Order: sequence, then C-alpha cells, then structure tokens
Amino acid sequence: MPKKKVVITKKTDKPAEKKVAKEVKKTKRSKKDLITVTGMRDILPQDQRYWEKVRAVAKQISKDYGYDRIDTPILEYADLFTRGIGSQTDVVEKEMFAFTDQGGDDLALRPEGTASVVRAYIQHGMLNNTQPVKFFYMGPLFRHEKPQSGRYRQFFQFGFEAIGEDNPALDAQLILMGWNALNDLGIESVIQVNSIGCRDCREEYKKALVKYYKTKSKSLCESCKTRISKNPLRLLDCKEDSCKEIKKDAPQILDYLDNNCKDHFMKVIGYLDELDLPYVLSPFTVRGLDYYTRTIFEYWAVDDSEGKNALGGGGRYDSLVKILGGREETPACGLAMGVDRIVAKMREKNIEVAEERIDVFVAQLGDAAKKKAMVMYETLRKNGSFTVSQAFHKDSLKKQLEIANKMRVKFTVIIGQKEVGDGTIMLRDMQGGVQEVIDFNKIERELKKRLEKYREGAVIDLTQGEENNNKMSGNVSGGINENEEKNEEIEATERLDLE
Ligand SMILES: [Zn+2]
Ligand SMILES: [Zn+2]
Repeated sequence: MPKKKVVITKKTDKPAEKKVAKEVKKTKRSKKDLITVTGMRDILPQDQRYWEKVRAVAKQISKDYGYDRIDTPILEYADLFTRGIGSQTDVVEKEMFAFTDQGGDDLALRPEGTASVVRAYIQHGMLNNTQPVKFFYMGPLFRHEKPQSGRYRQFFQFGFEAIGEDNPALDAQLILMGWNALNDLGIESVIQVNSIGCRDCREEYKKALVKYYKTKSKSLCESCKTRISKNPLRLLDCKEDSCKEIKKDAPQILDYLDNNCKDHFMKVIGYLDELDLPYVLSPFTVRGLDYYTRTIFEYWAVDDSEGKNALGGGGRYDSLVKILGGREETPACGLAMGVDRIVAKMREKNIEVAEERIDVFVAQLGDAAKKKAMVMYETLRKNGSFTVSQAFHKDSLKKQLEIANKMRVKFTVIIGQKEVGDGTIMLRDMQGGVQEVIDFNKIERELKKRLEKYREGAVIDLTQGEENNNKMSGNVSGGINENEEKNEEIEATERLDLE
C-alpha cells in the first residue's frame, strides 16, 4: 500500500462527486457575498501604524546586527517543505495549503520562512560567500489551522537566519535580537530555552521517551498513542490534561546530551547570563518542526499566564542545508517572530503608536488658484524636510479646512483668487489660528523655518517674525482662536471670493 501522500493534490477518481461538493460549498457562501477566506483578514488603514511600527523595529534590529533583507516567493515546490519541515509534522501533514497547478507541479504556499531562505542560500551558491550569511525576511505565511482567536491562516512573520556558523555566540545573539524586538515595542517577555541536541543524542532521548510513554500508554489521549511510534517528541506538546500530567515525570533531554551538545548549550546559557536576559530553562520545549537541532527557544509575554501563544521562537538547524541539497554539513540558526500576535499584544496592552502627522496642508479657492496650487504641490512634496497633503478634489475652502483639521496638520497654506493676483500665499497656523500673507516664492523656505522652530518646541508667534510680511489678508483677520469661528470667517471669505 502506498504511503499516505502528504501533498493535498485533491486528485479524485470521481469528478462528479467533487463537483457536487463544490456547489454545496458555493451555495453556503453565496449569502455572504464576497468576503475574505476563512481565517484570513484585511489589515485596514487605521491599523497599519501598529504594523508599520513592528516592521520598523524589525528593520532596525536587522541593521543593528548585520542581517540583510531577502524576499523569497510565497509559492514554492511543495517538497521543499515536506523535506525540510518533515512530513510527520502537523504543519506539513494537515496545515499546508498545497495544490497541483495547471502545469502539473505540486506547489505550496509557504507555511514558514526558514526552508525558503535555505533553498535560496543553496540555489545562489552562497556556500561560497563569507560565512555566516545572515538574512532578514518579512512577509505572509500560510497554514490551514483550525480557526481560533489569535490565529490566522494567512499570518505574518519577520525572521532572521544566520547560515554557515556553529558558534554558540550566534545562538545567544539571535535570542537577544528577538527579545530586543519585543522590548523595543514595549512588550515584556520571558525566553524559554532548551537544547534538543544533535541527531545522535536526540535518538537516544527519543528511545528513552518511547520507553517511558509506553508504560503510560493507557492514560494517553488518542493522538498521543499514535505519536509514540510516529513522532515521540510531539508527545511533549500535547495540551490534554492527562498527557500533561504524564509529561511531568518524563525523561528530560538535557540528561541525554553528548559532551559537544552539552558544551554548546552551556556556552549559549553563559552568554544569556552575561547579557542579563530573562530566560528560563524549559526542558520540554521541543517546537513543532523536524529540522531543529541543539538550541531552541520561544518568547512568551510575561502576562500570558495561560501559555496560549508564543510571540516568536527559533533555534539551530544544523542539518537542514544538507537535507535540502547542500553539498556539505552547514550549521545554521534562526528565529521568527509572529507579527499578528505582537500587534495583538500591543493593542491589548494599550501600547501607543503615534500616528504619523502631516505637517502642511495645501488649500485652494477658485480654478486659477487650484491650478497654481497643484503645480506648487509638486515642488513642496519633494522638499524632503516636511510632509504635505491636499484635497484638490474639493472646491469648498471650508471642506478643505475641515480635512486639514482632521489631519491635525501644523500649517495650512491657502491660495485664493486674490493671492494668485498679487503673487502671495496665506500661511495659517492651525493651532494658534494666526494667519499671515507671505511672498509666494518664499513659501518653501518659510515653511521649513517655521517647522524647525515648531519641532524645537518653541512658541511660534507668526506676528513677530522678522522677515514676515505682517499685512493680514484683507478678508481674513488673524488672532482668532476658535476653529469654528475661523471656519465661519473662511466661509465668508469663500463666498466673497466666489461672488
Ligand atoms: Zn549531540
Ligand atoms: Zn496527548
């Protein structure tokens, strides 16, 4: 009998039956119209600042420790993952989005990042570069998991991989990098660390595990009963209470490490101590993927008492390069952080992420002014020292000022008919409500100067400026503090100008 094929190609002998099944699904969904696929979601504009913050921190960490960005395709040949992650793992066996494409290739949406990076390392001959080669990646991953809170079928990770070096300082530094990322985002975390040894010592440990669990098999859950023969390490991950109880007395991997693996692990721990990182030894942490060797670690928020979702984790994977077709044994170590979970944690803890504020809004009144403003905008947006926005699709000055207020810009520049005529522009301080008329050609310089002062925290009194033309517009007087009043005034101006 052929082994159960891991890749879900959905080749069926009964196309008719399949068609029926599909139609049933379709009717079920049609009521809901077009919505996101189960377990997937949109990340809306108003939430982006959290994501942007996480990306910015990840990028900064990559720079601080010399990891270079790599982007690999979302779609890969499925056997990259079956070979890399292991066909007996949940990720490959149950959760991979795998299919056969029109050309007959078995493909999969990447369920994790490491295998792809290693594939790229081999494919592009980076074994010949100075080692280690250090990569940084960021992007979506896909797993067909049971939908539950905090887990998505398209989820995002950023990660770091250092390939071609076995020095334990590298393990410790990667552990530090993940912890730093969380810390920089305001999340307090504890690191769980373990070593699962090399292939050799792990074999000894597996034997001990099997021996122990066989004596307890009557009390194990159904999944664990099959795990004894299929994937004994996974016995330690079981969430069933009865299995958790049995785990307490299970043999611990640390007692089975050979001298080299023990020495490596003690050095890693020594560096963590030196760096004063908050870690705990976690003898039963094994992580779900087959490729790990020696050091493994996970990050847990200090307030995640239920131990539901690790915020990230990683480990050493000294045999993966060879498994995926590399010429020689190539040690490597990496980590990946779950961006969705990190963002959720930031929101849960009310960690504030400042909205990016626009500095200057360009408003216009009348067609000639609109044309002039559109041209000026092209100059202003390239100035490099302040940010600009506009609403040229609006004709009403009142509406434009409402938009500017909503954006909480610091300054609005206004061009009306009068200003077009005499080559001036009105500059309005949105907080103080003070307005002044200045030379159109000096606008960029004036804005720069004022924003510099603004950023220094100085009180800006536009009426006292040395070079300022203090003549107020004939229609709009300065010194009005209430926005409503300002807008009414502007509205009056608008009517006046349009007449
Ligand atoms: Zn070993
Ligand atoms: Zn179990």
